[in-house]
Amino acid sequence: MGKELICVQNADLGSHPEALALNTSFRRDTPILKLCVEINWEPTEPAVAVASLEARLVKLCPSLREHECRGQEEYHILSSGDERGPRFAESRRTVEAPLALAHLYEHVMIDTIAFITAVPLVSGATGALKDARNRFDIFVESPDAVAARLTVGLATSWFGALVTGRSLNGEGRVALDLARHFYRNQSGALEVGGIARALGRESREVGEGLSCLERNGLTNRVGYTVNLSGVMYFSLPGAETDLLATGR
Ligand SMILES: [Zn+2]
Repeated sequence: MGKELICVQNADLGSHPEALALNTSFRRDTPILKLCVEINWEPTEPAVAVASLEARLVKLCPSLREHECRGQEEYHILSSGDERGPRFAESRRTVEAPLALAHLYEHVMIDTIAFITAVPLVSGATGALKDARNRFDIFVESPDAVAARLTVGLATSWFGALVTGRSLNGEGRVALDLARHFYRNQSGALEVGGIARALGRESREVGEGLSCLERNGLTNRVGYTVNLSGVMYFSLPGAETDLLATGR
């Protein structure tokens, strides 16, 4: 088996003042999630592969289109279709695939944290490390560890599926809606029927989404000593759980 596409080697939620050098929009009063990642992606035609991945991600997260993207122009997200002339097109052709993917991953995490928590503005940055072209530090604001864990788990599973051309089904929008629902109902144990009613979705869809969250270690089955109803309940792992304590 090959290496994981996105290997998250370390995750920490804290103040991380070093992120300010990469993006001055980070706010000092908002915790920053710092991920140290290794990206194992070497498509033969990077620009084409990046554009195709972007197109799939926009279907999943349409609000990616509204993101402000600073930094090097050829790495701006969703710019493959624009008309900035031949020099721009040429610069796009030489993009480094691992950097482009790390940067897209950052934007998907920004989008996911904003969706799950309803925080109106989330900043992020991707820094390439000098000693290796496939290792990066990614910084994204996150109000708390619960949102950070859900986001890292979902985003990593989406990229793994989309890069290999697998369709997301319940792993996509449904899992994202479920993540937000669990985030909003952190104190309770939830069951499929109740979630389906709250989200206006079919129980079958909710079941698929729950399998995805469970597989990625993002929800637990709640074990009652006596449960005569036969209904299975799910909850988020405790807030003290390690950020990377996922089922992967
Ligand atoms: Zn950007």
